Formats: sequence, C-alpha cells, structure tokens
Amino acid sequence: MKKILLIATGGTIASGYTKKGLAPKFEAAKLLEYVEEYREFCQVEVQQPFNLDSTNICGKHWLELTDWIERYYEDYDGFVICHGTDTMAFTAAALSYLIQNSRKPIIVTGSQKPIDLPVTDARTNLLDSLRFAADERAHGVNIVFGGNVIAGTRAKKERSKSYNAFSSINYPSVAVIRDGRIVFYIDDKEKAEDEVCFYHELNERLLLLKLVPGMDGSILSRLFDYYDGVIIEAFGVGGFPEYGEVPFYSEIRRWTDAGKIVMLATQVTHEGSDMEVYQVGRAIKEDFHLMEAYDMTLEATVTKAMWAMGLTLDGERFRSLFYKTINHDILLTPQGSGEG
Ligand code: ASP
Repeated sequence: MKKILLIATGGTIASGYTKKGLAPKFEAAKLLEYVEEYREFCQVEVQQPFNLDSTNICGKHWLELTDWIERYYEDYDGFVICHGTDTMAFTAAALSYLIQNSRKPIIVTGSQKPIDLPVTDARTNLLDSLRFAADERAHGVNIVFGGNVIAGTRAKKERSKSYNAFSSINYPSVAVIRDGRIVFYIDDKEKAEDEVCFYHELNERLLLLKLVPGMDGSILSRLFDYYDGVIIEAFGVGGFPEYGEVPFYSEIRRWTDAGKIVMLATQVTHEGSDMEVYQVGRAIKEDFHLMEAYDMTLEATVTKAMWAMGLTLDGERFRSLFYKTINHDILLTPQGSGEG
C-alpha cells in the first residue's frame, strides 16, 4: 500500500465557525477522521506546519512547505497538502518551481465548505486527493479539486463560492476523478527522467501592476526603489498607453537601464498575451527586449518570476529561466510552441 504524508496548513477545509467568522480550527489528524475510506487504498501519516487562512500564506510558507517535503521525501510515496482556496493557485505554482521533476505526486487541495458540515465538498476533495496521490501514474505538483486534477502552474480560482472553484487555464486538466475512478488525460510520468530538484530561495521584491485606463508611468517612478522586477498586467494581448505626464516608455527605459526585470502579462484570463500584434506593444517590446507571459497564468508568472529572481538578476539568465517550460506552465514561447 502506498504511504502518503498529509500536510495540513489550514483553510476553509479545516475551519470552524467563531463569533468573528470562519477560522482554521481542525488539525491534520482530525481531517483524516472524516475520510476513513482512505484505509482501503493507502496509509496516511500527518504533519501540521501551520494552521492559517490562506490569505496569510506567502513566500516564507512556500519555502517552509518545500523544506517539509524535502525532509520527508524518501519516507513517503506521495504528499497531500490541505490548503485554503484563496491563494491555493499561487502556492501550487510556487511549489511547481521550488520542487521540480518530482516523480512522486505532490497534491494541493482544500474546499469551499468546512469538513464538519453535513453538506460539503471537503470530504470528496480530500479523498480524491489521497486516491490520486496513491495512483502509480501520478507525479509532480497538481491541484485536486471538484473532481479535476489541474497542473500546479495552470490553476486559477475563478469562482468564489461554487464547488467547481478552480479552472485549468490554457491547458487541459491532467485527469478527472469521477466516483472514485481516475481518468488520465495527460499520462506522462514515463517522460519524466530528471532528478527531483529542490530550491530554497525566492525574491519577493516583485511588483504586479495592473493598468487601468488613465494610469501613466509615474506610478513606476514612485515604486522604482522598492522592487527588483515588475510584471505589468496590460490590456488585451498587451500594449502600453501613451497618455499622461510620464510615458510608460521612458519609465521602462529607466527600469531596464537600471538592470531591473520588466515583464508584461495580460488582464485577460484565457488565451494569453502577444505583444507583437499591435503597434502599442511591438515597438516597446523590441526596444527594451521585454519578456511577456504568453499563455502562463498570472499566478505562475508571479511565482516563476520570484523563483527566477531568487536565482539571478542577470537579464539573460533570468530570461532563459522564465521561458523554460516547467510543470506544463508555458506552451507558447519565443522559441516556438509545444512541450517537445
Ligand atoms: N479564506 C479561505 C482560505 O483561503 C478560503 C478557503 O479556503 O476556501 O483559507
């Protein structure tokens, strides 16, 4: 029988009602009591590094989770992390960069309703996650939620209340789980040959700037000192407005001249960026050799940039890390398309 480590971190799945609102309460062993059926297909042991609403989870927790998994990597066949849904897509993407080429499955799950309610998605999601983690074909970082298995870099929380909260963006689901049966759409464990690799550094001096009509480049002048890099979330397939007192063009020159990393992403959830289509994007991209997210999710773009900036601030080295396909995160790259 496969041996799985359940790592509980809080979130709604572990929450109970208090006078001040829902807050994490149940610990890992208690969660397991609600899904006794797991005994039919795996053995589970538990760890509890922290118990937080995922609103309060950030880079230091991603690094801590990486350390826990590295410490116990040889002792288990797979890992299931229970986590709040609000920042789950960021955590799953961050872990995809911090733990690469894992032949063992690392599943992130949670729920929209607490596990102790009579009607809840929590028990199904947790049981599905344990079932998936115990499957021979499972590997790498994935979210299991609402019957869907989504690559860790491709998930987005698109619904704040429904049970099908997460979608797989610009990429198919890895698998679906229906009534306890797993159907794989992407069954590629055999292709994974590299050794597992753990990283221990993130650079969080990263600004994500969402453009709104009327905003000009002066915002970047004010924030210049605080950040090593910026992702500008632009309109449509990507471009920069030309109005206002401080043009984006001159500010981007200042940032790139100073050796800061400048990337563009789109505000549109589906189908990605392509700055070369319109005049408002192409010239500035070419003049400053800007990087763009293409079909990566925003969560993946942000955490990949933090990971890569943790390794290097050299523009060319950063670029080759940013455009490398990791856990299915990017298909359309300047070098072409496809995962090869
Ligand atoms: N606020 C909760 C959290 O992210 C929401 C959830 O888990 O569904 O921890």
